[in-house]
Amino acid sequence: MRNDEIPLKHRMFNVVFIVGIFMSFSCALMKCFMGEDKAAALASFACGVITVGLYIAFRVSRNYNLLSLIGVIFSSFVFFPVMWLMTGGTFGGIPYYLIVNAGIIALLLTGQRRRIIFGLFAAAVGVLLHIEYKFPDLAAVYKSPLDRQINYSFGLFVCLISAAVLIAALADGYAKELEKSRRSNAELIQAKEEAERLNRLLSEEKQKLHLISITDFLTGTYNRRFIMSYLNDEIEASREKKRKLTLALIDIDDFKTVNDTYGHVYGDYVIERISRTIKSNLRQNDIVGRYGGDEFLIILPNTGIKEGCAVIERVRRKVAELEWEKDFSVTISGGLMEVEDDKTTGLLIMLDRLLYSAKHKGKNLIEFPAQS
Ligand code: GH3
Ligand code: MG
Repeated sequence: MRNDEIPLKHRMFNVVFIVGIFMSFSCALMKCFMGEDKAAALASFACGVITVGLYIAFRVSRNYNLLSLIGVIFSSFVFFPVMWLMTGGTFGGIPYYLIVNAGIIALLLTGQRRRIIFGLFAAAVGVLLHIEYKFPDLAAVYKSPLDRQINYSFGLFVCLISAAVLIAALADGYAKELEKSRRSNAELIQAKEEAERLNRLLSEEKQKLHLISITDFLTGTYNRRFIMSYLNDEIEASREKKRKLTLALIDIDDFKTVNDTYGHVYGDYVIERISRTIKSNLRQNDIVGRYGGDEFLIILPNTGIKEGCAVIERVRRKVAELEWEKDFSVTISGGLMEVEDDKTTGLLIMLDRLLYSAKHKGKNLIEFPAQS
């Protein structure tokens, strides 16, 4: 695991224990070096061994909470009180260690536990001060002022270093956590943008699919299924809103001859070009769908027979005016009527009859009911 992947509290735990081990062993060494205070040196050494033991136990069990608690209880209520009395109390180096120990409590414990242990620790310090005041002889006195000076200065420096290491570790940990949260924020924003991009893509693809499902492949006009359902909706909407509605059924004249003379591929091209001409000569709200092979159904919403007739006549004329490479002309015929009854089948039968009549009368013609 990389160092910045280790949770912050575990990093703090590591640093606190390393500082604890350093404080204990350095204190023991110093006391050994001075050749006095054998009991204090032994107590410091024992404390170092216990701290190492706790640290190893943590590495094995990873029980952060329990081992923190044991470590803090041991140092606050066993080790420091004993050392206090062994090394001259207020006049020795231990008071500095107590301040660092308060920092260690704050770093290792959280919530209620931290408050309780800290309260008890503060009370223990109060008791020690009181004991020392009441029974000054209980706190071991230094053999010489130099001894005291060395002990005092050493404690001060060890605690200075330890406090600096603890605060630096905390600041480093905080910076790393901040960086981690910035990075995961950036990743989150990136993931959100990617999800939005995919959503957009999906809805574009859905739109494309929908368009394909309602469009006739050859002509690009609506397919029969769509134009029929649109017609039903439009009939209902026009009736509800009392709007006029006109329909036209268009068929290419003698289209079989085109196919027979020039082939089906050219026939396809003719159908496609005529459908384009129809579309480009309709108005914005008019819609056209391929009703059959060479037949187109045109819906003219909000339009009466007279206006509809003008539109479809223009379409017929434009188709007739088209020029073809093969030097022939193509015309269309159609039936046109305004919707008065709302039965779709009946309407289409009537339109078909009108178309038949236009064909019968010689083609290239738009036929509409006689009474109109
Ligand atoms: P009329 O004037 O009476 O309409 O005569 P017509 O020859 O056009 O006869 P009809 O409309 O009945 O014939 C339509 C022909 O269109 C029949 C079919 O072979 C042809 N056709 C239908 N769909 C396609 C197509 O997608 N491509 C091609 N090339 N031909 C088609
Ligand atoms: Mg035809």
